[in-house]
Amino acid sequence: MKVAIIGGGAAGFFAAITVKENYPDSHVIIFEKSHKTLAKVKISGGGRCNVTNGCSSIKELSEAYPRGSKQLKSNFKLFNNKHAMMWFESRGVSLMVQDDNRVFPSSNNSQSIIDCFYAETKRLGVELTLGKGVKDIRQMGEQWKLSFLEGGICSSIFDKVIIASGGSPKRKGLEWLERMGHKIETPVPSLFTFNMPVESVRQLMGVVAENAQVSIQGTKLKSNGPLLITHWGMSGPAILKLSAFGARLLSERNYKFSIQVNWGNVSNSEFVLQELQRLEKLNANKFLSNVKPYALPDRLWLFLLDKCELTQNKKWCELGKKGMNKLVNILTNDIYKVEGKTTFKEEFVTCGGVSLDSIDFATMQSKVCKNLYFAGEILDVDGITGGFNFQAAWTTAFIAGKLN
Ligand SMILES: Cc1cc2nc3c(=O)[nH]c(=O)nc-3n(C[C@H](O)[C@H](O)[C@H](O)COP(=O)(O)OP(=O)(O)OC[C@H]3O[C@@H](n4cnc5c(N)ncnc54)[C@H](O)[C@@H]3O)c2cc1C
Repeated sequence: MKVAIIGGGAAGFFAAITVKENYPDSHVIIFEKSHKTLAKVKISGGGRCNVTNGCSSIKELSEAYPRGSKQLKSNFKLFNNKHAMMWFESRGVSLMVQDDNRVFPSSNNSQSIIDCFYAETKRLGVELTLGKGVKDIRQMGEQWKLSFLEGGICSSIFDKVIIASGGSPKRKGLEWLERMGHKIETPVPSLFTFNMPVESVRQLMGVVAENAQVSIQGTKLKSNGPLLITHWGMSGPAILKLSAFGARLLSERNYKFSIQVNWGNVSNSEFVLQELQRLEKLNANKFLSNVKPYALPDRLWLFLLDKCELTQNKKWCELGKKGMNKLVNILTNDIYKVEGKTTFKEEFVTCGGVSLDSIDFATMQSKVCKNLYFAGEILDVDGITGGFNFQAAWTTAFIAGKLN
């Protein structure tokens, strides 16, 4: 059996290795457009490669995917984060799970993952062809013929093809698949930070609110977690998660919207009022500036006092009902105007790609073309930051590589 893998990235290598392990006599060739393989693995996770996430249940794992959650949930029964960790460790890559559940090679170097892939493909006899971008694939009966961007046609005919060519930032890059009958979800960026050019909060750059809740006004989109104030706006896990779940809607709004920040992540304002009243009772004669609710960073607390026009040297006992209400409001409903986005350089993915409607997820085979499979970011599947995007690549490649 001859198998072509289109794309020499994470999903392509994983699929090629899986095919060879399942079908040792097969002839597997990876066709890579550029002259470098595994380029994204190399730079991933700031050069450390956040290879998966150590979360403990399939439910938690699948909830990390704004697109593809339901489909991946079933596939995770076959190959999930625990399997991925075992896969790498059994092939000599020692891994470590950080406190935030992100999993990295113990070497702290993405090269360990690359070396593992190179060693495995060499051991199994996978052939690698660099500088060959696949332009088109044509069906000949139940087999496939490949033609290249650089011109020419592959002399071989393949029994099976796995497409693992990664996310395409533009719909144009997916038109060849659309012509074959696949439904395409228009690509838009996911995982970005929010630009706030008119907001003075930017002066607090570097400040982190450890547990904030952020929602997009006029929508049900909401997330929580650490929020980082940057010199251009806001970032951190709470913002990145929101950008992923809101990727399509925010693109439609041309990245102009307002967010509502709840600085203590306490939705019920009655509870916030009770907490402030408790602080007032305990610290009646202390200055507002010296007693902070929800362990907020000093600079943020002073900024919020200033924003709701409460002088720092006012005492808690002088706050009054009006002052108290102002504080409750700023802590639970602090509005910021977002105008634009900045790509998150640590991990950037595309929302959109080959529609899940066109794929049989039990096999990763195309529903419109027999013997054609998909794996990785080419699919309309993407996760939040934390190793989930590689996990989707490993899982889909593992299933595609069975060639069922
Ligand atoms: C800077 C950065 C850091 C990241 N860090 C992390 C992280 O730490 N953890 C995590 O989970 N995710 C991370 N991601 C996301 C992760 O890298 C991707 O989700 C993952 O690489 C997708 O794998 P893939 O094989 O589907 O696509 P890719 O890695 O993009 O590989 C696709 C390959 O196909 C080739 N190709 C494209 N078209 C053709 C064609 N027509 N013919 C032949 N070859 C073709 C490309 O050149 C490329 O080599 C990061 C992304 C970026 C950009």
